Amino acid sequence: MTIRRVLDGVEAYLRHEMDDGRVLADVSPAVVRALAAPLPPRREKRKPAPVPVLTPTVDTVSPTVDPAVAGKDPVKVLADIAGRVAECRRCVLCKQRNRTVPGQGNPHPELMFVGEGPGADEDRQGLAFVGRAGQLLTRMITAMGFTRDEVFIGNVVKCRPPDNRTPLPDEMEACLPFLREQIAVLKPRVIVALGATAVLGLTQAKGICKLRGNWMLFDGIDLMPTFHPAYLLRNPPAKREAWEDLKAVLVRLGRPVPPVGSGKSGQSSSG
Ligand code: SF4
Repeated sequence: MTIRRVLDGVEAYLRHEMDDGRVLADVSPAVVRALAAPLPPRREKRKPAPVPVLTPTVDTVSPTVDPAVAGKDPVKVLADIAGRVAECRRCVLCKQRNRTVPGQGNPHPELMFVGEGPGADEDRQGLAFVGRAGQLLTRMITAMGFTRDEVFIGNVVKCRPPDNRTPLPDEMEACLPFLREQIAVLKPRVIVALGATAVLGLTQAKGICKLRGNWMLFDGIDLMPTFHPAYLLRNPPAKREAWEDLKAVLVRLGRPVPPVGSGKSGQSSSG
């Protein structure tokens, strides 16, 4: 697990405890000793390993945003984007993918969900959010009063990062034009950015724990950052905060907010 994910988890847990009025944290003697010990001297930062550059001969597909996308049939534009994604070799993630995962859903959505990138199940099926995290996302969508077919679901990168690692900045940069083009043609009223990577990719802002629940903008579209379903599976108490974020989305859309309890039932399972 990355240090970033551990940090996010610890911060979310401690915030939850403080919100519940607790001032003392129950930590093991080993943690107390570690906190009391002086920090080791910083290691000199190593230069990041160079990312292999693919030759121009394989980079036959440009993800450049088509300025004429507005006014075009979204179904055709989405199919065209999916076709270019399937051929894309702009970053190293093309090397180990089985299927590209362009995203799927309603071509005229009120609501769009954007995650980080495909996992193993998505890579096998070519569909976004179909694994365990996807099942939880489905329950979240249902709890909001939508079906999956009524929303659009996509990711910042369209190919699976090896071992489900976080996409690297140059991979996100290479892939984001596809997502921007999708958003331009979909024109959702609200984008829900799922997790730190989606928020970073769309807004350049860091720190999901402090950003979540606060409205942001992407190209003039309201954007709500919230926790990624995979994080919620590991940290069930954070579902309460995620549900608050989704309720704010419903209010922004002018849709009914389900009564207390029904939202929880939509998110209660961690399967
Ligand atoms: S992740 Fe995106 S940019 Fe990289 S190869 Fe796949 S489609 Fe192309």
